[in-house]
Amino acid sequence: MMRFPISKLLAFAAMTAMAASLSAQQTEKPKPEDTEIWEPVPAVVTPGANNTAPPSDAIVLFDGKNEDEWVSAKDHSPAKWTVADGVLTVSKDPVNGGSIETKRSFKNYQLHVEWKIPENITGSGQARGNSGVFLASTGPGDAGYELQVLDAFGNKTYVNGMAGSIYKQAIPLANPARKPGEWETYDVVWTAPTFNEDGSLKTPAYVTVFFNGVLVENHFELQGQTLYIGKPFYKKYDSAPIKLQAHGDKSEPISFRNIWIRELP
Ligand code: MG
Repeated sequence: MMRFPISKLLAFAAMTAMAASLSAQQTEKPKPEDTEIWEPVPAVVTPGANNTAPPSDAIVLFDGKNEDEWVSAKDHSPAKWTVADGVLTVSKDPVNGGSIETKRSFKNYQLHVEWKIPENITGSGQARGNSGVFLASTGPGDAGYELQVLDAFGNKTYVNGMAGSIYKQAIPLANPARKPGEWETYDVVWTAPTFNEDGSLKTPAYVTVFFNGVLVENHFELQGQTLYIGKPFYKKYDSAPIKLQAHGDKSEPISFRNIWIRELP
C-alpha cells in the first residue's frame, strides 16, 4: 500500500474544498439587479431654453437687468459697468471702472457666460478685446485663475494666451471663435483646488471648458494661479468670487450677457 505523508493529504483536502466552493460560486449566476442602484434619486432640474438659459437650480449672476450680484474688485463698492439692452459692458474708466467680481464666493461649479468682442474692435494681439473670466478671484495681490477672453478670429498672439486658454498654462484644443460682433459662449466646469492646514496643496484645480459648444480644455490640471510673469504657484484659499476683467488695453470694451452658475458638491 502506498503511503502519503500527512501534509500532502491535508493539501489535497484543502484543494478539494476550494474547488467545491468555486463551483458553488459559479452556480450563483450574477443578476442584472446586482448592479442596479435606485437611491438616492438625482434632483429634478428643469433645463433652460436652448440649453443656454439658466436651468431651474442655477444662481443667475447677470440676467440683463442689473449688476446686483457684482461689486468692484478693487474696493467692493457697487459695480459700475454699463447695463443696456440686456447687456453688461466693461467700463475702463480709471475712477468708476475696473474689474468686477461676484458678491458671492464659490468652490466647485458649472458656469455659463456669453461674451462679445465689439464689431468695431481695434488693436492687435493681447490688446484686441482683452478681458477674462477669473474662475477664482482669490484676493487683492493674487493673480487668480483666468480663462482668457480675447478676439481670436484671425488675431495672432501667443497660443497659451488666446481665447479659450487658461492664461499661460493651457493652450485651447481648438479655436472655435466667431467673428467680432457675434456672441460667444463659455461653459465651464471648475473643480477648486484644496489645501492642507499648513497651506500646502492637497489636490490641484481642474477645469473643463466648452467654447461655443466645442471642447477646448478637457479636465486640465492647473499648476497654480495664472501669472502674467513667472511660474504658476498655488496659494491657499477656501472659496472665491468670480471676476470679470477690465483690461487696461485701449481697444473698445467687450460685453457680457446671460451669466449663471450651478454650485457642485
Ligand atoms: Mg485677460
